[in-house]
Amino acid sequence: MLDRLPTLLERLFLGPNIARRAALAKRVPHSLIERVQMAEFRKTVERVGARSAFYKERFAAAGIQPGRVRRPGDLGEFYTTSADLRARDTAEFLCAPPQAGFETTGTTAHNKRIYFSNEEVHDIGFEGAVGLWNLGLRPDDRVVDAFDYAFWNAGITLMHSLNAVGCFHMIASKLEPMEFYRRVKDYRFNVMVVDTAWLVALTEIAERQGAWPVKFILSGSENMSEPTRAWIEAVWQTRVYQAYGQTESLGASGIECPMQKGYHLNEPNFLFEILNPNPEGFGELVFTTLTRKIMPLVRYRSNDITRLLDEPCGCLLQSLRRIDKIQGRGDEIISCGMGMISPWIFEKWLAGDAALAAELTDDWQVAVQQPGARDVIEVRAEVRQEVLPSRWPGLEAALMRRFAEIFPYYEKNRHMGMYELRVKLLDRGALRGAASGVRRKLRRVVDERISKTALAPTLA
Ligand SMILES: [Zn+2]
Repeated sequence: MLDRLPTLLERLFLGPNIARRAALAKRVPHSLIERVQMAEFRKTVERVGARSAFYKERFAAAGIQPGRVRRPGDLGEFYTTSADLRARDTAEFLCAPPQAGFETTGTTAHNKRIYFSNEEVHDIGFEGAVGLWNLGLRPDDRVVDAFDYAFWNAGITLMHSLNAVGCFHMIASKLEPMEFYRRVKDYRFNVMVVDTAWLVALTEIAERQGAWPVKFILSGSENMSEPTRAWIEAVWQTRVYQAYGQTESLGASGIECPMQKGYHLNEPNFLFEILNPNPEGFGELVFTTLTRKIMPLVRYRSNDITRLLDEPCGCLLQSLRRIDKIQGRGDEIISCGMGMISPWIFEKWLAGDAALAAELTDDWQVAVQQPGARDVIEVRAEVRQEVLPSRWPGLEAALMRRFAEIFPYYEKNRHMGMYELRVKLLDRGALRGAASGVRRKLRRVVDERISKTALAPTLA
């Protein structure tokens, strides 16, 4: 029964309702948050050490005695990775029977599965409600969400948040932006919660056909560039905020500060660390779940590169530390208008069909660019020498056809205008160029939207 009691920290933040909880949040000293976090951290390590087959095995292999771990540093180089979640049976991570499950979107052949109790989903939603309150959401607002509900947690978490605030809410789900525009216009929803790339397509329609009054827009699931945000804000005459999270954190790692300078971390539910920070403080965000009892994760590597921000913001959530915008991914999984993309997808596309593969070399590279508001996925593929130039247009068309055939999900997003796909055929050897002698491994997926200067020391 003790497990069902909220922690001291949660009680302090909770209060009986969201308004009171938000007001209390501002007065909690960070030192208290840290003390409670450390106590919960120890309990989590002991719990997984006693109940999860995966952690029992890994702790033993690393010579870790859970009862002696006081703080994250005591775990040395021990981390849980995305690859662990993919390679191992989900049951090996469980500490108790689950009641709810979600999947990460299609980044690889095996989507990660993350399980929860209903209470955990409810609690995370409740925490999210404080963040929404901080952005201005109130019970008399009218909210519509256009999240994709298939196997994904974002919409369910949001529903719990909105229940806690008590406002009117309708689920539109991820419709074609034009259909959404047509059907929701009359409702005069004043708060929209949407996917970033989808919002770009919706805003293009609103720019042509008119927007309606909106209090704010919350966009989740990926980074938005500041010029894109400014354009969307100008079209809708409102503020656009972003949430930060991943399915492994039930989408609730952080929510943007109303000052639009970084995300306040969900410190009541997670202990965050920045791994191997460079001199500017940028490193990989790592988290340990503090309040999860079903499938806790210890020092989970998020793959997201960011840094902690020091300047005070003065908002209701000021006691919760902030992180900067995500600067990039620690590996080659990139979130963009197409969805979460990784080399696996393009490998399957370009090399999976024997006839097409015979016309291409093994060297290809995918670049995510953002010349305007929309992401452009440029696929640079080298053509074998014996393929005549007259064949190139036909080859390009065949590649596009195969893409549509094998990836209906990504093709649907393309039709919705969430991104543009371009195939750029190149002569053999073009990608490695003069550097071929030193560059043994071609980087398959590159994000050309982001500033490389801040990242160089970490990602090199
Ligand atoms: Zn703030």
